[in-house]
Amino acid sequence: MTRVYLGLGTNLGRRARNLSAARRRLRERGVRITRRSRVIETEPWGVKDQPRFLNQVVEGDWQGTPRQLLKITQDVEREGGRVRTRRWGPRVIDIDILLYGDERLKLRGLVVPHPRIAERPFVLESLSELGLKRDGRW
Ligand code: ATP
Ligand code: CA
Ligand code: CA
Repeated sequence: MTRVYLGLGTNLGRRARNLSAARRRLRERGVRITRRSRVIETEPWGVKDQPRFLNQVVEGDWQGTPRQLLKITQDVEREGGRVRTRRWGPRVIDIDILLYGDERLKLRGLVVPHPRIAERPFVLESLSELGLKRDGRW
């Protein structure tokens, strides 16, 4: 089992419901959710002219490879109705793999720890709420 931290974000439709649907779908696909941070409302990051986001970090245990986890998060995004538009644009649900155990990975299409953790106060705040201390990796 690997302890993982996933960053959830949504700024379209019924946002709270989008978060709970994503958590349920992650569980159905084998992510054992152990804890979750409070939901916080945040200003859009990167592209400003869009609705505010709800963000949450979930902690889970995962048995499988990093690539399998990425696949699952992308399936859950798709099932939630995410349509890919511009980078950092509005979306029904976004799931980022923030941390994957103690691993540092630089694969094609998967960089862990997520490279922009430190630039996003809401991510830092949620990780700290879950008791994570910053380390040299992020
Ligand atoms: P950001 O990554 O800055 O939060 P974003 O979430 O809007 O931006 P996406 O369009 O959701 O970006 O993802 C772009 C690509 O990022 C995906 O196709 C995925 O392969 C890649 N990616 C790399 N590292 C990760 C990671 N740790 N978690 C999720 N996706 C990742
Ligand atoms: Ca993201
Ligand atoms: Ca993403």
